[in-house]
Amino acid sequence: VTILGIETSCDETSAAVVVNGTEELSNVISSQIEIHRRYGGVVPEVASRRHIENILYVIDEALEKAGKALDDIDAIAVTRGPGLVGALLVGVSAAKAIAFAKNKPLIGVHHIAGHIYANQLITEVQPPYLSLIVSGGHTELVLVKADGQYEILGQTLDDAVGEAFDKVARTLELPYPGGPQIDKLAQQGSTSIDFPRAWLEEGSLNFSFSGLKSAVLNYLNQSKQKGITIAPADVAASFQAAVVDVLVGKTKLAMEHTGMNKLIVAGGVAANSGLRQALQETAKEQDWQLHIPPILYCTDNAAMIAAAAYPLYLKDDFADMSLNATAYLPL
Ligand code: ATP
Ligand code: FE
Ligand code: MG
Repeated sequence: VTILGIETSCDETSAAVVVNGTEELSNVISSQIEIHRRYGGVVPEVASRRHIENILYVIDEALEKAGKALDDIDAIAVTRGPGLVGALLVGVSAAKAIAFAKNKPLIGVHHIAGHIYANQLITEVQPPYLSLIVSGGHTELVLVKADGQYEILGQTLDDAVGEAFDKVARTLELPYPGGPQIDKLAQQGSTSIDFPRAWLEEGSLNFSFSGLKSAVLNYLNQSKQKGITIAPADVAASFQAAVVDVLVGKTKLAMEHTGMNKLIVAGGVAANSGLRQALQETAKEQDWQLHIPPILYCTDNAAMIAAAAYPLYLKDDFADMSLNATAYLPL
């Protein structure tokens, strides 16, 4: 089963061709990071326009690289939400147009399901398993009971972890997107500053990062007032350590609660070297089967959307021409 995947939920225009949800033939990603960097974040209107300009070229290139024509494709899969509605609409409209013109089945995919299924492109993992989703808009612990069957065990009550990385990076005057910048800087710093860890109530699997973000801001402001020069690398390392402690601690708790021993990590922040290392160490100590996809599959791409669409294809879970883009969409 050959699926053409399309992803335009944020600032990456991407198209991919994937066979049976596991074998990637192509995965073309056109990033808009350079354009949005000057604004310090993604400008939704600008993102939509760039998607419109790029989408057909990106799809053509994905087909060409895969050595496939549209007639060879069995289904068109597209991210239907959550994300920026104007950005999503570009992908959804393109997918509907192709599906209609070529009379092919259309599959609407949840963006976070895509992040979870990204790992199938590397190693096939059979549910049930636990998934830690850490991205620009989500921080969730999800129990994947069966293909397409999810139970959210915990989630952030305020900022997503990627958002916290980006905001803290901005206060340190690092360029957008801040996550990778903090990661790099942290490697040269010490974790000497004691920033708070929000564990919430006993046993809670929810997250909160807004207090940590404020604590970093206060630290910077107070240092400035007192005329103390700060070491940005130490701030980055200490902030990252606080984030990683909580993410790993709650994941451990969720693994114990559910009795799982398989963990899949997903989303852009799964690229973080501190988090990867801490999870690898914990996995060894706890005897978990740990799956963290390579960085290319952690951030937004269309191959993960085609991978998540495959189990839906097998269930004949198709969308019709009323498929719409949805900004907020539960998993
Ligand atoms: P969502 O998937 O929730 O809709 P999104 O698509 O914007 O949000 P992703 O593309 O999955 O999010 O991830 C982008 C986020 O990952 C950004 O916040 C970015 O700063 C963060 N990120 C990327 N690399 C790293 C890293 N090495 N360390 C920390 N954060 C990182
Ligand atoms: Fe994403
Ligand atoms: Mg992105």
